[in-house]
Amino acid sequence: MLKDFLKEVVVIVAGKQAEEIAGLLDNKKHVNEFLIAKKMEITINQTRNILYKISDHGLVSFIRKKDKKKGWYTYFWKIEVLKSLEFLKEILVKNINQIEHQIKSREAKRFYICERCNIEFNEENALLHNFTCDDCGDLFVIKDNSKVLRDFDRNLNKLKKELELVEKDIQEEQEKIDKKKEREFKKEQKEKAEAKKKAKEKLVKKTPKKSVVKKEKTKKTLRKKATKKKLVKKTSNKKKTKSVKKKK
Ligand SMILES: [Zn+2]
Repeated sequence: MLKDFLKEVVVIVAGKQAEEIAGLLDNKKHVNEFLIAKKMEITINQTRNILYKISDHGLVSFIRKKDKKKGWYTYFWKIEVLKSLEFLKEILVKNINQIEHQIKSREAKRFYICERCNIEFNEENALLHNFTCDDCGDLFVIKDNSKVLRDFDRNLNKLKKELELVEKDIQEEQEKIDKKKEREFKKEQKEKAEAKKKAKEKLVKKTPKKSVVKKEKTKKTLRKKATKKKLVKKTSNKKKTKSVKKKK
Protein backbone atom coordinates (compact mmCIF):
# COMPACT_ATOMS: atom_id res chain seq x y z
CA MET A 1 0.00 0.00 0.00
CA LEU A 2 2.80 2.37 0.98
CA LYS A 3 4.46 1.81 -2.39
CA ASP A 4 1.23 2.78 -4.17
CA PHE A 5 0.96 5.94 -2.10
CA LEU A 6 4.54 6.92 -2.91
CA LYS A 7 3.84 6.30 -6.59
CA GLU A 8 0.76 8.50 -6.38
CA VAL A 9 2.81 11.29 -4.79
CA VAL A 10 5.48 11.08 -7.49
CA VAL A 11 2.82 11.23 -10.23
CA ILE A 12 1.23 14.30 -8.60
CA VAL A 13 4.48 16.28 -8.42
CA ALA A 14 6.46 14.96 -11.42
CA GLY A 15 3.91 13.42 -13.79
CA LYS A 16 2.94 9.95 -14.90
CA GLN A 17 6.22 9.30 -16.78
CA ALA A 18 8.11 9.66 -13.48
CA GLU A 19 6.03 7.03 -11.66
CA GLU A 20 8.69 4.32 -11.81
CA ILE A 21 11.16 6.32 -9.77
CA ALA A 22 9.09 5.75 -6.63
CA GLY A 23 9.96 2.06 -6.71
CA LEU A 24 13.66 2.73 -7.30
CA LEU A 25 14.15 5.08 -4.35
CA ASP A 26 14.78 3.64 -0.93
CA ASN A 27 13.81 5.23 2.36
CA LYS A 28 16.86 4.02 4.26
CA LYS A 29 19.89 4.24 2.03
CA HIS A 30 20.71 6.77 -0.67
CA VAL A 31 20.66 5.52 -4.27
CA ASN A 32 23.12 6.64 -6.94
CA GLU A 33 21.33 8.80 -9.55
CA PHE A 34 23.20 7.08 -12.39
CA LEU A 35 21.76 3.77 -11.27
CA ILE A 36 18.25 5.29 -11.29
CA ALA A 37 18.81 6.69 -14.79
CA LYS A 38 20.02 3.32 -16.03
CA LYS A 39 17.08 1.43 -14.57
CA MET A 40 14.55 3.94 -15.93
CA GLU A 41 16.33 3.96 -19.30
CA ILE A 42 16.42 7.77 -19.38
CA THR A 43 19.31 10.26 -19.41
CA ILE A 44 20.95 11.54 -16.24
CA ASN A 45 19.50 15.02 -16.93
CA GLN A 46 15.98 13.65 -17.25
CA THR A 47 16.50 11.74 -14.03
CA ARG A 48 17.74 14.84 -12.22
CA ASN A 49 14.82 16.92 -13.53
CA ILE A 50 12.38 14.45 -12.02
CA LEU A 51 14.28 14.36 -8.74
CA TYR A 52 14.49 18.15 -8.53
CA LYS A 53 10.72 18.39 -9.00
CA ILE A 54 10.18 15.97 -6.13
CA SER A 55 12.88 17.70 -4.12
CA ASP A 56 11.06 21.05 -4.49
CA HIS A 57 8.39 19.62 -2.19
CA GLY A 58 10.97 18.23 0.23
CA LEU A 59 9.92 14.66 -0.52
CA VAL A 60 13.41 13.39 -1.39
CA SER A 61 16.78 14.21 0.13
CA PHE A 62 20.29 13.73 -1.21
CA ILE A 63 23.94 13.46 -0.35
CA ARG A 64 26.66 14.18 -2.90
CA LYS A 65 30.09 12.77 -3.41
CA LYS A 66 32.88 14.28 -5.47
CA ASP A 67 34.56 12.11 -8.07
CA LYS A 68 38.23 12.79 -7.35
CA LYS A 69 39.40 11.94 -10.88
CA LYS A 70 36.69 13.73 -12.87
CA GLY A 71 36.04 16.51 -10.37
CA TRP A 72 32.25 16.41 -10.60
CA TYR A 73 29.60 15.52 -8.06
CA THR A 74 27.38 12.46 -8.07
CA TYR A 75 24.14 12.74 -6.13
CA PHE A 76 22.64 9.95 -4.07
CA TRP A 77 18.92 10.16 -3.36
CA LYS A 78 16.57 8.91 -0.67
CA ILE A 79 12.80 9.20 -0.47
CA GLU A 80 11.33 10.92 2.60
CA VAL A 81 8.42 8.60 3.37
CA LEU A 82 6.82 10.52 6.22
CA LYS A 83 6.89 13.83 4.35
CA SER A 84 5.51 12.16 1.21
CA LEU A 85 2.63 10.64 3.16
CA GLU A 86 1.84 13.94 4.83
CA PHE A 87 1.89 15.61 1.41
CA LEU A 88 -0.58 13.04 0.08
CA LYS A 89 -2.78 13.46 3.15
CA GLU A 90 -2.98 17.19 2.56
CA ILE A 91 -4.11 16.66 -1.04
CA LEU A 92 -6.69 14.06 -0.06
CA VAL A 93 -8.15 16.35 2.61
CA LYS A 94 -8.38 19.17 0.06
CA ASN A 95 -10.14 16.94 -2.49
CA ILE A 96 -12.55 15.61 0.12
CA ASN A 97 -13.48 19.15 1.17
CA GLN A 98 -14.09 20.10 -2.46
CA ILE A 99 -16.39 17.18 -3.11
CA GLU A 100 -18.30 17.75 0.11
CA HIS A 101 -18.80 21.35 -0.94
CA GLN A 102 -20.11 20.26 -4.34
CA ILE A 103 -22.47 17.74 -2.77
CA LYS A 104 -23.89 20.41 -0.48
CA SER A 105 -24.34 22.76 -3.41
CA ARG A 106 -26.13 20.07 -5.45
CA GLU A 107 -28.38 19.23 -2.57
CA ALA A 108 -29.24 22.83 -1.73
CA LYS A 109 -29.72 24.27 -5.23
CA ARG A 110 -31.95 23.23 -8.06
CA PHE A 111 -30.56 22.72 -11.51
CA TYR A 112 -32.55 22.82 -14.74
CA ILE A 113 -31.84 21.16 -18.02
CA CYS A 114 -32.97 21.29 -21.61
CA GLU A 115 -33.32 17.60 -22.30
CA ARG A 116 -33.14 17.99 -26.05
CA CYS A 117 -29.86 20.04 -26.08
CA ASN A 118 -28.51 18.57 -22.85
CA ILE A 119 -27.59 22.01 -21.46
CA GLU A 120 -27.61 22.59 -17.73
CA PHE A 121 -28.65 25.80 -15.94
CA ASN A 122 -28.67 26.75 -12.29
CA GLU A 123 -31.85 28.25 -10.88
CA GLU A 124 -30.87 31.90 -11.41
CA ASN A 125 -29.92 31.39 -15.04
CA ALA A 126 -32.97 29.24 -15.72
CA LEU A 127 -35.15 32.08 -14.39
CA LEU A 128 -33.33 34.60 -16.60
CA HIS A 129 -34.17 32.41 -19.60
CA ASN A 130 -37.75 32.12 -18.48
CA PHE A 131 -37.20 28.36 -18.15
CA THR A 132 -37.12 28.15 -21.94
CA CYS A 133 -34.26 26.99 -24.13
CA ASP A 134 -32.86 29.68 -26.44
CA ASP A 135 -31.78 27.11 -29.00
CA CYS A 136 -34.79 24.85 -29.40
CA GLY A 137 -37.57 26.57 -27.46
CA ASP A 138 -38.22 23.59 -25.24
CA LEU A 139 -39.13 24.11 -21.61
CA PHE A 140 -36.51 23.26 -19.01
CA VAL A 141 -37.10 20.42 -16.64
CA ILE A 142 -35.65 20.05 -13.15
CA LYS A 143 -32.48 18.04 -13.35
CA ASP A 144 -32.39 14.80 -11.45
CA ASN A 145 -29.28 15.16 -9.32
CA SER A 146 -29.38 11.67 -7.94
CA LYS A 147 -26.88 10.22 -10.43
CA VAL A 148 -24.44 13.10 -9.98
CA LEU A 149 -24.77 12.81 -6.21
CA ARG A 150 -24.20 9.07 -6.37
CA ASP A 151 -20.98 9.66 -8.31
CA PHE A 152 -19.84 12.27 -5.81
CA ASP A 153 -20.63 9.95 -2.92
CA ARG A 154 -18.71 7.10 -4.48
CA ASN A 155 -15.72 9.32 -5.08
CA LEU A 156 -15.92 10.75 -1.59
CA ASN A 157 -15.96 7.31 0.03
CA LYS A 158 -12.97 6.24 -2.03
CA LEU A 159 -10.97 9.28 -0.95
CA LYS A 160 -11.97 8.88 2.68
CA LYS A 161 -10.86 5.26 2.70
CA GLU A 162 -7.54 6.21 1.17
CA LEU A 163 -7.11 8.99 3.72
CA GLU A 164 -7.68 6.51 6.51
CA LEU A 165 -4.97 4.20 5.14
CA VAL A 166 -2.55 7.08 4.58
CA GLU A 167 -3.08 8.23 8.17
CA LYS A 168 -2.39 4.71 9.38
CA ASP A 169 0.86 4.62 7.39
CA ILE A 170 1.83 8.02 8.76
CA GLN A 171 1.35 6.71 12.28
CA GLU A 172 3.43 3.61 11.54
CA GLU A 173 6.18 5.67 9.96
CA GLN A 174 6.19 8.05 12.91
CA GLU A 175 6.49 5.12 15.32
CA LYS A 176 9.39 3.73 13.31
CA ILE A 177 11.18 7.07 13.48
CA ASP A 178 10.52 7.40 17.22
CA LYS A 179 11.83 3.90 17.87
CA LYS A 180 14.95 4.57 15.82
CA LYS A 181 15.58 7.76 17.78
CA GLU A 182 15.11 5.88 21.03
CA ARG A 183 17.55 3.16 19.92
CA GLU A 184 20.12 5.76 18.93
CA PHE A 185 19.68 7.59 22.23
CA LYS A 186 20.14 4.38 24.23
CA LYS A 187 23.19 3.44 22.18
CA GLU A 188 24.67 6.88 22.79
CA GLN A 189 24.04 6.63 26.53
CA LYS A 190 25.60 3.19 26.61
CA GLU A 191 28.65 4.41 24.74
CA LYS A 192 29.01 7.36 27.07
CA ALA A 193 28.76 5.11 30.10
CA GLU A 194 31.36 2.74 28.64
CA ALA A 195 33.71 5.60 27.84
CA LYS A 196 33.38 6.85 31.41
CA LYS A 197 34.05 3.40 32.76
CA LYS A 198 37.15 3.03 30.60
CA ALA A 199 38.42 6.44 31.63
CA LYS A 200 37.98 5.47 35.28
CA GLU A 201 39.81 2.20 34.76
CA LYS A 202 42.71 4.05 33.16
CA LEU A 203 42.83 6.47 36.05
CA VAL A 204 42.87 3.66 38.60
CA LYS A 205 45.76 1.95 36.81
CA LYS A 206 47.82 5.11 36.47
CA THR A 207 47.12 6.77 39.80
CA PRO A 208 49.38 4.75 42.17
CA LYS A 209 52.62 5.80 40.42
CA LYS A 210 51.56 9.37 39.86
CA SER A 211 50.13 9.89 43.31
CA VAL A 212 53.36 8.75 44.96
CA VAL A 213 55.39 11.22 42.95
CA LYS A 214 52.89 13.98 43.58
CA LYS A 215 52.77 13.33 47.28
CA GLU A 216 56.54 13.50 47.60
CA LYS A 217 56.65 16.73 45.69
CA THR A 218 53.85 18.33 47.57
CA LYS A 219 55.28 17.31 50.90
CA LYS A 220 58.63 18.88 50.09
CA THR A 221 57.17 22.12 48.82
CA LEU A 222 54.76 22.26 51.72
CA ARG A 223 57.62 21.89 54.18
CA LYS A 224 59.61 24.60 52.45
CA LYS A 225 56.65 26.93 52.39
CA ALA A 226 55.85 26.19 55.99
CA THR A 227 59.36 26.96 57.25
CA LYS A 228 59.44 30.16 55.26
CA LYS A 229 56.11 31.25 56.64
CA LYS A 230 57.20 30.43 60.16
CA LEU A 231 60.31 32.51 59.79
CA VAL A 232 58.41 35.47 58.44
CA LYS A 233 55.87 35.24 61.19
CA LYS A 234 58.54 35.09 63.87
CA THR A 235 60.36 38.16 62.65
CA SER A 236 57.21 40.17 62.20
CA ASN A 237 56.08 39.22 65.68
CA LYS A 238 59.35 40.40 67.13
CA LYS A 239 59.06 43.72 65.36
CA LYS A 240 55.52 44.18 66.58
CA THR A 241 56.39 43.45 70.15
CA LYS A 242 59.33 45.84 69.95
CA SER A 243 57.24 48.69 68.63
CA VAL A 244 54.59 48.08 71.27
CA LYS A 245 57.21 48.22 73.96
CA LYS A 246 58.57 51.53 72.66
CA LYS A 247 55.16 53.18 72.75
CA LYS A 248 54.73 52.31 76.39
ZN1 LIG B 1 -32.79 23.12 -26.12
